[in-house]
Amino acid sequence: MTQDVSQLRHPFLDGRPKRMLIGADWVPAASGRTFESRNPSTGELLAVLPEGDREDVDRAVAAARAAFEGPWSRFKPDERQALMLKFADLVDAHFDELAWLDSLDMGAPIRHTRGSRRHLVGLLRFFAGQATALYGQTAQTSVNGSMFAATLKEPVGVVGSIIPWNGPLWACIFKTAPVLATGCTLVLKPAEDAPLTPLRFAELALEAGVPPGVINVVTGFGRGAGAALAAHPGVDKVSFTGSVGTGQEIVRTSAGNLKRLSLELGGKSPHILFDDADVSRAAPAAAIGVFANAGQICSAGTRVFVQRGIYDEVVEAMARVGAGLKVGAGTDLASDIGPLISARQMERVLGYVDSAKEEGARLVEGGHRLDDPAGFFVRPTVFADVADPMRIAREEIFGPVASVMPFDTLDEVVRRANDSPFGLGAGVWTRDVGRAHAIARRLQAGSVWVNCYNQMDPSMPFGGYKTSGYGRESGVQQLDEYLNVKGLWIQH
Ligand code: NAD
Repeated sequence: MTQDVSQLRHPFLDGRPKRMLIGADWVPAASGRTFESRNPSTGELLAVLPEGDREDVDRAVAAARAAFEGPWSRFKPDERQALMLKFADLVDAHFDELAWLDSLDMGAPIRHTRGSRRHLVGLLRFFAGQATALYGQTAQTSVNGSMFAATLKEPVGVVGSIIPWNGPLWACIFKTAPVLATGCTLVLKPAEDAPLTPLRFAELALEAGVPPGVINVVTGFGRGAGAALAAHPGVDKVSFTGSVGTGQEIVRTSAGNLKRLSLELGGKSPHILFDDADVSRAAPAAAIGVFANAGQICSAGTRVFVQRGIYDEVVEAMARVGAGLKVGAGTDLASDIGPLISARQMERVLGYVDSAKEEGARLVEGGHRLDDPAGFFVRPTVFADVADPMRIAREEIFGPVASVMPFDTLDEVVRRANDSPFGLGAGVWTRDVGRAHAIARRLQAGSVWVNCYNQMDPSMPFGGYKTSGYGRESGVQQLDEYLNVKGLWIQH
């Protein structure tokens, strides 16, 4: 079913202050403090939300613990599975509405979020399937002949998930699906810049019959609710998606009870185009690989290495693609690229544009904001002749800025591509199958896409090498992040 988004009037926009979900109750912050969420396309005030803090996190963790030890622990795997499938159906039926909230709150072009329906609803259904497939193993020990030894997998317990603003619906689904499949419970801390979708998502979970306390949502800031969740002794695991700096902070604050951690952090992914590539496909893919979601994608292929024989052709083609993209409001069906999340982020991105000019990169396309004082729009930007040491080639910009660089040989490009503290994604375009296999193994990245870019599927894991983090999301690999393994020895 596809809803007509232009007709949607969402309860979050009814003018009343919003509440967050703790157990079965929609509550204000214990402190009574609030914060605002605004539309980055227009500056319009969308909602006033509770600024949750330590006390609210305490209550949410207690609710999650009570649900974990109480009603949720009595759900059999096939019952969790049935519930997840019902929830998936409900998310599917409301997908346009959720996508529309994402567009309003963080500016993602609605067409793009709608396009992720199959993947995201599919991820919930994939993990529903896993709920009845959490296998342990039996072992042939050498202890003695009458020993039975086996492993059991058990849910880790209460999970704290802290998510960024660049894809709220995406993050809700990635963080919730493995929790429900494994029998854990969740306290979710949305990003302060995009809290609306997670609240609506949690409302749908209750409607689907997920018992109160299994999913709790505490809205608020990183230094308040986020830090309290990361440090909380009642939390067994933290699943964090966000910047490297915050990830490092969470490693420190979570150390008190040595809770399990998975970290999905930033990137500066290389996208490599060899001379024999099909340029008509590779150049647009390289451009969209940077510009999608206004560059606010962790695996954006922002370092574009082009072999010298096709360099000028690719630079020109990328500039053409960038120039042809319509930049506009996230809710506008015609928009290809939405705004950046905030004035601060826009200034940061424009600062990188200035630094690139000062360091001698050649501006080929874009490099400026739209003449629209209300929204935080930056035109897709292509810099050519970028050198590896320049800031735009080393640091994560999180904006629509491509750094294009020539290379000559395979060994050279492997060395330069790997010369980064990050290791999230990498793209390669070549018609030579042998070369594709060889380079894929040598690239230090959690995902390598050959003759495609940023492909995702519920069956495949996603995550980082090096400072891009540890742990995996999606795929059966994610399940083990939410399970303890118990060794069981029975002498008979
Ligand atoms: P961020 O690190 O500033 O914030 C992310 C979340 O952490 C927010 O909810 C924030 O409130 C919270 N937070 C901030 N400080 C905290 C603290 N001290 N303790 C606990 N929580 C705290 O990141 P962002 O700007 O929201 O998101 C952009 C970053 O996220 C980029 O670096 C991007 O690459 C990364 N990201 C990674 C992936 C991935 O899968 N690898 C996906 C999306 C985004």
